[in-house]
Amino acid sequence: MQPRDLSAHTPYVPGRGTEEVARELGMDPEDLTKLSSNENPHGPSPKAIEAIEDAAPTVSVYPKTAHTDLTEALADKWDLESEQVWVSPGADGSIDYLTRAMLEPDDEILEPSPGFSYYSMSARYHHGDAAQYEVSKGDDFEQSADLVLDAYDGERMVYLTTPHNPSGSVIPRDELVELAESVDDHTLIVVDEAYGEFADEPSAIDLLSEYDNIAVMRTFSKAYGLAGLRIGYACVPEAWADAYARVNTPFAASELACRAALAALEDEEHVEKTVESVEWARDYLRTELDVPTWESAGNFVLAEVGDASAVSQAAQREGVIVRDCGSFGLPECIRISCGTEAQTKRAVEVLNQVVSEVPTA
Ligand SMILES: *Cc1c(COP(=O)(O)O)cnc(C)c1O
Repeated sequence: MQPRDLSAHTPYVPGRGTEEVARELGMDPEDLTKLSSNENPHGPSPKAIEAIEDAAPTVSVYPKTAHTDLTEALADKWDLESEQVWVSPGADGSIDYLTRAMLEPDDEILEPSPGFSYYSMSARYHHGDAAQYEVSKGDDFEQSADLVLDAYDGERMVYLTTPHNPSGSVIPRDELVELAESVDDHTLIVVDEAYGEFADEPSAIDLLSEYDNIAVMRTFSKAYGLAGLRIGYACVPEAWADAYARVNTPFAASELACRAALAALEDEEHVEKTVESVEWARDYLRTELDVPTWESAGNFVLAEVGDASAVSQAAQREGVIVRDCGSFGLPECIRISCGTEAQTKRAVEVLNQVVSEVPTA
């Protein structure tokens, strides 16, 4: 007995966790500065924690009203019909739902390279395939309609990541509109706004009232600090919004996740504090690191360090965990998440030291 041919399926490579690294180094996880997964260093909103505690005794029941309430709150926030909000386990869940709704076997998606690996993983799970457009370091990861259209060959889905992971670049709104107007009728533009809260650019969600070929994904994992609960959503055009009922995994967004997300949505102060702290840390990283960095609209900064593997391992020995971007196809770059003030300062101190000692590749 064997599973189907999975040789084209590459496993997802997550940023390394504190427990894992602490065990390996024989250190206390508390002594580690983990800036490898773009998490919220201030944790979740206290209101979300309270909501989780309050809901704990009810988890013997399948989630239903919490899911409905969250969907309605999000529809209200973005001025959409509730059918247009597809709540999912993380934005990764939304990627799966959109893929399920769109791809026939052998259909393709077009995705940025470097980019978020789950787009193509999901396409392959659903018997499709992936092609790439290059968001190139040589052009400072600039994103434009032309760049995508040069590579575009009628793919069924085209992913845009704005702010882009791992570079932090954004696609200007007029470029996005031009793209939506240029692609074939059967192509869906998926705008991944996982880091949307940290950017100055407005969300593309309001374009759904004009375009039936744009979907926008958002998540509670980053600015809202709920990564461990797995909760996100896609906003889709009204014309085909009812597909959700046919593609979603029943009860995949858990009761605790929905309740926490609802509470987090109400705590605007926590998000504002998080965004302010990210703005400070981005500036600090860009000003204080002794290596080239790129302007970022996300809660992370990409830095060119020479041998990213050697630098990230050396930093890790000093208790600072950053993301080696080798798995993104950028073996000379690391991505540093914005931490608290203390974490960010510590990371800069260690990285500058390490970079001065590690020979460049
Ligand atoms: C983190 C991230 C996501 C989604 O994360 P979830 O935790 O599944 O919500 C989606 N896209 C990009 C580019 C990300 O970095």
